[in-house]
Amino acid sequence: MTASAQNTARLLIVGPQGSGKGTQGVRIAEAYGIPVISTGDIFRAHIKEGTDLGKQVTAVLDTGDLVSDELTGALVRDRISQPDAANGFLLDGYPRNAAQVVHLDDFLAAQGTSLDAVILLDVPREESIQRLELRATEQGRADDTPEAISHRLDIYERETAPILEAYGAKGIVDRIDGVGGLDEITERIFAALAARGLARTAAV
Ligand code: AMP
Repeated sequence: MTASAQNTARLLIVGPQGSGKGTQGVRIAEAYGIPVISTGDIFRAHIKEGTDLGKQVTAVLDTGDLVSDELTGALVRDRISQPDAANGFLLDGYPRNAAQVVHLDDFLAAQGTSLDAVILLDVPREESIQRLELRATEQGRADDTPEAISHRLDIYERETAPILEAYGAKGIVDRIDGVGGLDEITERIFAALAARGLARTAAV
């Protein structure tokens, strides 16, 4: 059965560091004519610009801890309410824990909407580690030690489990094999979204 095409796409992309989430996220956003909303990018931009919010969160980002749910939730609510997100958005990095899932779902429900799909970019831990170590060598990043990489992957696995559980129960998670060529993976994502009746606005 083919679902009828729908002109909105409220999406969330989830994947470990080194999964290609950033690259695929941009491709999806372009194809669907929606903005990428990355909480990490928003925080980093505020820090760079030296805003009050930036000053408030600098220390938290430096330690790798999470910014408070209240602050992050308010930021996302504000961003989702902007006109360019009226027909959809691709969230990256939010929600990041069970409380944020509830917060987002309640906010969207109050607007009569909900997430259409959660794209899980599945990359085995070993592959993520290899990619991150390669990137660290290429970019000469001394902080990307095997221990630091492993620690970040541990945090990811701990954080994402409850998110996938919540959205899995709603039947909106698309698990995408994240191993292969970039274009091949993009096509897998597009196919999964098309199967949900989500229509692309641009040919990419
Ligand atoms: P990221 O680029 O997604 O890894 O985010 C970088 C940092 O921003 C994280 O280590 C957190 O300190 C903060 N951050 C990003 N998203 C969230 C979120 N949903 N909740 C709390 N803190 C976040």
